[in-house]
Amino acid sequence: MPIATTNPATGQVLKTYDPMSDEQIDAAIERADLAFRQLHGTTIAERGRWMIAAADLLEAERDETARLMTTEMGKTYAAAKAEVTKCAIACRFYADNAPRMLADEPADAAAVKAKRAYVRHQPIGPVLAVMPWNFPLWQVMRFAAPALMAGNTGLLKHASNVPQTALYLEELFRRAGFPEGAFTTLLVGSDAVDRILSDPRVRAATLTGSERAGRSIAQIAGRELKKTVLELGGSDPFVVMPSADLDKAAEVATTARCQNNGQSCIAAKRFIVHTDVFDAFAEKFAARMSALRVGDPMDGNTDVGPLASEGGRDEIHAQVQDAVDNGATVLCGGEKPSGEGWYYPPTVVTDLRPGMRMWSEEVFGPVAGLYRVGSYEEAIEVANGTNFGLGSNAWTSDPAEQERFAVDLDAGNVFINGMTTSYPELPFGGVKNSGYGRELSAVGMREFCNTKTVWVGKGEAGAGAGSHSE
Ligand code: NAP
Repeated sequence: MPIATTNPATGQVLKTYDPMSDEQIDAAIERADLAFRQLHGTTIAERGRWMIAAADLLEAERDETARLMTTEMGKTYAAAKAEVTKCAIACRFYADNAPRMLADEPADAAAVKAKRAYVRHQPIGPVLAVMPWNFPLWQVMRFAAPALMAGNTGLLKHASNVPQTALYLEELFRRAGFPEGAFTTLLVGSDAVDRILSDPRVRAATLTGSERAGRSIAQIAGRELKKTVLELGGSDPFVVMPSADLDKAAEVATTARCQNNGQSCIAAKRFIVHTDVFDAFAEKFAARMSALRVGDPMDGNTDVGPLASEGGRDEIHAQVQDAVDNGATVLCGGEKPSGEGWYYPPTVVTDLRPGMRMWSEEVFGPVAGLYRVGSYEEAIEVANGTNFGLGSNAWTSDPAEQERFAVDLDAGNVFINGMTTSYPELPFGGVKNSGYGRELSAVGMREFCNTKTVWVGKGEAGAGAGSHSE
């Protein structure tokens, strides 16, 4: 894929970049390694001051950064501004909380026959981050803020269609005070990932992206014995039970499906509705989906902008067509517009069956699949009946049923009477083909830390480590 900014609202190529040469890549890795050693001599408080400076810059530059993202991948300007603000919040969160998250944890010294024993969380070195375009700032920040606070350095291989946002991120950390090389953007295609991850100086990798990319990076990392965190696709269920507030559920369902023009890993994609409320919910949901305004993402009245790429639009239209050709019913949308820009109308499809692409594949655009179920058990069977397990949503006002959903939904996140979202305070990640490892919270920060056991003996005759030698 060429490294270029192409405006999805017009299809116009605005800027292209040559990929970095092997020599440039090697030099960048060398700088990241040197910066790691330099960060070793800094305190958490010092890194925290730089992280706060990054937050200040993000807030001061919010509007122009948001415009850049909208131009590169088509999200609405309002959503882009909110994304910048969220990144600033995450920077402040990690600046404030890293001292607690990285503090030594004392162990029971007597139990391990030590004078003192504790667990220390230390950085590991340069980490490669392979990132997607859908939240071009936030996806990177939720790796970068905890990683840099822990004292790691970052090498970013961003998606090829958001090079300007990628370059902005490198500049941001540099201007905030982090040493040169602490966070570097590599303008490279995915074919360079093997070379980078094979370099002994690069200690680990995190990928947010498709299953295909996940398998490829996990293979390289397996060969090289390096740790990975994989945040992959999702086909999140949104279950509506008879006791749910249907108006609220339909309102949130519409946002949960169409935010970011439908291109979110944790968008609700499969709406699984109890038969007692199916018709009422379907009517409310389709009405709200049809009422969304599709258009210029810079216009404040627009709810849904264009998809990020022409290929992405072709793909979701093909998924809808496949369902229709095999007997599904379209309640609204489903027509590919002609004219400039890669727009697609909010669409609701029902009468889906196993074997249709929409049944098993992730649909990465404003297209909802609606499923009728007759019981709680059937709802769980359909909800868990995919290879994904990222987020999940259930709507019910019955407290006992809420608890059952929390246990039975096979996913990394369960949101009851709300939509799945990410917070710096809560771990984020998936199970099954949605990946492994976690981002955010202390759990995310420690994914790229060496959890080091430190045991200090009494240093006296007869007071050794005891009988356990392994
Ligand atoms: P993608 O094609 O996998 O691209 C993501 C990143 O991986 C890009 O930087 C891409 O580089 C790179 N890449 C692609 N193929 C690769 C390979 N074989 N080896 C190494 N790197 C490779 O994903 P996308 O279609 O752009 O993004 C949407 C996907 O990301 C969806 O499945 C979505 O659900 C998932 N996602 C997951 C999360 C999460 O947190 N779980 C969050 C957001 C998105 P190029 O751009 O140069 O190809």
